[in-house]
Amino acid sequence: MTRRVAIGGFHTECSSYNPLMQSREDFRRTEGADLIARTGFDFAAAGIEAVPLFHEASVPGGPVPRATYDAQCAELLAALAAAAPLDGVHLVMHGAYFVEGVDDPEGDFIAAVRRLVGPECLIAGSFDLHGQITAQIAETLDIFAAFRTAPHVDVTETHARAAAMLARALEGGPRPQVVRVPVPVLVSGEMSSTFVAPCDRLYAALPQHDTTPGVWDSNLMVGYVWADSPRATAAAVVTCTDAAAGQSAARAIAQSYFDARHALVYDMEALPLAEALASLKGAAVLADSGDNPTAGGVGDRADVLQAVLADGRPALFAGIADPAAFEALEAGAQRVEIGGTLGGGGPRLSLTPDTCRFAEDCAVLTLGAVTLVISHRRRPFHWFADFDALGLDLDAFPLLVVKSGYLSADLRTLPRRQLMALTDGAVSQALTRLENRHRPRPSFPFQPEAGFDPAF
Ligand SMILES: [Zn+2]
Repeated sequence: MTRRVAIGGFHTECSSYNPLMQSREDFRRTEGADLIARTGFDFAAAGIEAVPLFHEASVPGGPVPRATYDAQCAELLAALAAAAPLDGVHLVMHGAYFVEGVDDPEGDFIAAVRRLVGPECLIAGSFDLHGQITAQIAETLDIFAAFRTAPHVDVTETHARAAAMLARALEGGPRPQVVRVPVPVLVSGEMSSTFVAPCDRLYAALPQHDTTPGVWDSNLMVGYVWADSPRATAAAVVTCTDAAAGQSAARAIAQSYFDARHALVYDMEALPLAEALASLKGAAVLADSGDNPTAGGVGDRADVLQAVLADGRPALFAGIADPAAFEALEAGAQRVEIGGTLGGGGPRLSLTPDTCRFAEDCAVLTLGAVTLVISHRRRPFHWFADFDALGLDLDAFPLLVVKSGYLSADLRTLPRRQLMALTDGAVSQALTRLENRHRPRPSFPFQPEAGFDPAF
């Protein structure tokens, strides 16, 4: 008998320090065959009829308004109800929504999915390792898998792991469950890159736990540091059919992360902005980390641009989001003001470009030795294809400035010095200076003396 599995979900990351609320228009929807392909799993070959609902993802940013969250949930639940009867559901999630008045947005949604499909239907979830996994999420899901790389290069493989476990469970045998051990540690992605110590070692150990009988899939969730939320915590999360074996694996993973907390350091050279610029000699990439839109920053701040213009060296600055400046330039303005237009703060600059051209919904300006990209919408410039599309040759610029934390897989390959500027913004790396009213206490590094007992 052919089994039926519905696929759907939501994906974003919300800084509670970002004043620019997300809107429904910020989300891009994936449906149909494209959504099935996103899972990376051949459901048909497993004898499963995949029923794609929809998936919505946005560039990370500020909080999601309650009405937007409610509408997304209602629409996805209605699509799910229409897809009945179902044997399974695969939820493709991130796990770092922030919705005012809703402590556990993804958890409440998944609980609503459970109420709709009933206790027999299997529910699998695949998540970003920067998601917040609550007890409600672990208790409601039957199957869980999360990225094992950050920067993320195993996105499709992760969704496929969850789908493969779902197919396996549908064939019968003991029903899987998800166990979770929270870890009182909360750091930035830049301090927990899986490509450098200590997280390279911690993540390399995860598949070894999966060889234990009764353990299916082991995960370490770093969590998301830029949301002041009662669920903000790291966690070890394990899918298992043997609860004792799963809990033992989760405790070991949790303890390994807690024990490594003092070794969690930036994965690249990091300096305050003035020191970073003063230290530059040869070619370099400079990451404006506090205003990184892919971590939830606004992406509109001009403080680094101001410093680069004053510095005077040839540079490519990509980019600053400023709808008003873009539209003014498009209308023929010779002088524009930029900086903090979307609420991100920082200085306002008045610019009179030497030249201005348009491509890819961006304006490319020259200002003396500096080339500046102003984007119409919030977006990153992290991939070689982004620069190719704008006709920009990176080799022509000794200094490349991007709004980024850790560098993308593309930019990491550039044979030049790679430096993170510790700048202001909604995703500042100055973690202990962040307002902290709602995170669980004690939690490292906010309360450096935090202890840990993995028993639960
Ligand atoms: Zn992530």
